[in-house]
Amino acid sequence: MRRSTITLLLALFIVILAVGPSNAATERPWATIGTGSLTGVYYNVGQAMKKTLDRFPDDPEIILSVEETQGSIENLEAVTSGRFYFGIIQSDVQYKAWHGTNGTPWAGRPQKNLRAVLSLYTEAVNLVASRQPNVQNLMDLDNRRRRVNLGELGSGHYINATEILTAAGIDLRQGLAEVQVSPVRALTLFERRDIDAFFFTAGHPAAQFHEVAGGRRMAQFVPLNPTDDALARYPYYRRTTIPIKHYPGMGHDQDVATIGVKATVVASEQTPDWMVYGLVSTIAENIDFFKTQLLIFENINRDSVLEALEAPIHPGALKFYREKGLAP
Ligand code: GLU
Repeated sequence: MRRSTITLLLALFIVILAVGPSNAATERPWATIGTGSLTGVYYNVGQAMKKTLDRFPDDPEIILSVEETQGSIENLEAVTSGRFYFGIIQSDVQYKAWHGTNGTPWAGRPQKNLRAVLSLYTEAVNLVASRQPNVQNLMDLDNRRRRVNLGELGSGHYINATEILTAAGIDLRQGLAEVQVSPVRALTLFERRDIDAFFFTAGHPAAQFHEVAGGRRMAQFVPLNPTDDALARYPYYRRTTIPIKHYPGMGHDQDVATIGVKATVVASEQTPDWMVYGLVSTIAENIDFFKTQLLIFENINRDSVLEALEAPIHPGALKFYREKGLAP
């Protein structure tokens, strides 16, 4: 073979290697999912997804990396910026980011590359407060001496806390001493009497509340019971209750009224179709295995997976929903 022919063949070979066949199997199987604090539920949800994908690998298989984060807002930013392929976020955060709602980090900047994947379970907006001093309702917080943890800036509860306090007419700068720490840190500060209350939006049961219920300082859930008019201004909240059967130590004799959102999984326009299809189909096809891992998955059904999704459904997920007759 002439030297120039060999050079040409070699060059061609290198090009083929570099470009490769363009099917999904050659794409990297590692997917990252942003979750939340170790005492919340999102982190366990991420682990349950990982376990299901590892136990029932598809072809191509997905290797999920479950990341601990501050929560919804950090996850949303990580997904839309391409740092993570998936994130678990609150449905109200999905709404606000997709619409670019005023008074949020996305005001006038709707996140148009956001895509919805599936909806999981109801999360309650939880406000936990001390019984000494006795903080029984929201207005008991309207006092400069009350230190309240609203959550870290990357969390979903930070956005709920500011919205709820503002709607109740409590001036964030004048009314209370605001603290911005993680849920884990909030438990320590609460026990040390450095804070009197903390917000944490999460589904029940969650380790965060088990820990506070079994802690040294007596705690209680504070009801959040907005009027219908107030609720109508915030289309993403629904009325719900905190099931107190999980927390006998909190001293309630009936479930506590509050408002709630849904925990949802999102991706971005850039998340590969095969990967989203693989994640959704593997979980759906092995739903019994998936559901046995967390009590909170109890109420997942065919209809609930499409509830409270604001951004357009990712094409990879839509393909699966259409195959199963769940979406037109
Ligand atoms: N809803 C919280 C957030 O978005 C996280 C709850 C959890 O970790 O279960 O930040």
